[in-house]
Amino acid sequence: MDKDPVCGMMVDPKRAAGSSPYGGKTYYFCSAGCKSTFDRNPAKFAK
Ligand SMILES: [Zn+2]
Repeated sequence: MDKDPVCGMMVDPKRAAGSSPYGGKTYYFCSAGCKSTFDRNPAKFAK
């Protein structure tokens, strides 16, 4: 399980609605909405 950085939900990478690579790490999202929010401003959500 990995954490959706936008909403904080735990997401199974195999079932994630989307993923985005950022800063050498891959982030997984519960929904396409969380992915697009992240993609608009990844620096705000990536830790
Ligand atoms: Zn989410």
